[in-house]
Amino acid sequence: MNSKCTVTLKKGREKPVLRGHPWIFSGAVQSIHGYTQAGDLCSVLDHSGRFLATGYVNTSSQITVRVLASGAAAQRTTIDGDFIRASLERALRLRESLLGSTFAAGSKSAFRLVNAEGDFLPGLIVDRYAEGVVLQALTAGMQRLKGLLVDCLHTILSPLFIYEKLDTHMAEAEGLDAAATAGTGTCLYGTLPSPIEIEETGARFHVDVEGGQKTGFYLDQRRNRRILRECSVGMTLLNCFSYTGAFAVQALLGGGLQAHNVDLSEKALEQASQNAVLNHIDPERFRNSKANVFELLRRDESRYDIVVLDPPKFAASKGELPRALRGYKDINLSAFKRVRAGGFLMTFSCSGLVSEDLFQKVVFGAAVDAGRSIQILRRLHADADHPVNLAHREGQYLKGLLLRVV
Ligand code: SAH
Repeated sequence: MNSKCTVTLKKGREKPVLRGHPWIFSGAVQSIHGYTQAGDLCSVLDHSGRFLATGYVNTSSQITVRVLASGAAAQRTTIDGDFIRASLERALRLRESLLGSTFAAGSKSAFRLVNAEGDFLPGLIVDRYAEGVVLQALTAGMQRLKGLLVDCLHTILSPLFIYEKLDTHMAEAEGLDAAATAGTGTCLYGTLPSPIEIEETGARFHVDVEGGQKTGFYLDQRRNRRILRECSVGMTLLNCFSYTGAFAVQALLGGGLQAHNVDLSEKALEQASQNAVLNHIDPERFRNSKANVFELLRRDESRYDIVVLDPPKFAASKGELPRALRGYKDINLSAFKRVRAGGFLMTFSCSGLVSEDLFQKVVFGAAVDAGRSIQILRRLHADADHPVNLAHREGQYLKGLLLRVV
């Protein structure tokens, strides 16, 4: 399956590859030979012709090559069914060791099985929902490997279904065929149950894989929802950017008194109500507002013991960064004003372009303007089933702070 395509880098541009970075941008490429179509497998050479890595190439993407295997041993690596199977098994073993008994066959747990670059499989997301699997092959290269992926997932996991969820934003960046990306997704194996029920830290949730956001559920926040659950006893919660109410359900099951979900999506809020019912939560204890968080936080004068801010990605490119930072400052400033003395703010950014340091500075600026003294209790990240390749800082997108507002 290895093609004859070779990508030669400009002089001096081999260092990131040697250090394990999986992306090669167009500006680092000297020449490409033997390219037939987007997603071709390729060998990457330094300017003198020395072998560096094996990967796949797409000249329509700003990221020309994504590396699948690097170092001397990679020269003998063929990207075939055995390679894919070994990579998936390595990813699976990590989850087995992380998740222990909740991982057992037949369990309704949900977790990320493959976290793209973080699992050395750039462009591939695989999420396990109870006994089924949702995959996203986000690049032309991964699309070309899809047949092998489905075969291997089938052999390793025997899932009830394998559903492919499309991401139109990524498809555009990769110049993927519009016909191939029309609609939301397709079942590649089995049939998609409706609804899918999962369990997370003692709570039950219905997941809408087809119509929901991402692959259906924000699995990356599992650990942070557990942390919230543990500090919710006797508390009231404002859950901003609630999606299907997962933070609120966990807080209420943890002994929280009341929760108020805010989201722009009516459908997500309906699902939030259903998730509360599923967990036998008294409807008196939660309410939903279909509203813009920016506006609601400014006009609503109510005070809460805990505010959660889990907004969508504000900055997708460097050009959007100044506006994104103003957005973070705005919501954090308003949120600080809503928290009762002695309460908590759990605040996140999932913009990969905003570093932890920068995020903390913005939150600090908001606290100063709100006139509140703040203690940092915890620094928050995605759960461990979302590993990050140390050489690939871009993979560390989710960062957050649990703060006590004095
Ligand atoms: N905390 C959620 C995930 C949040 S995803 C969980 O744990 O599952 C971000 C959510 O923000 C989406 O549901 C989206 O509909 C919502 N959203 C985006 N912009 C918004 C805005 N300006 N006001 C309110 N909700 C918004």
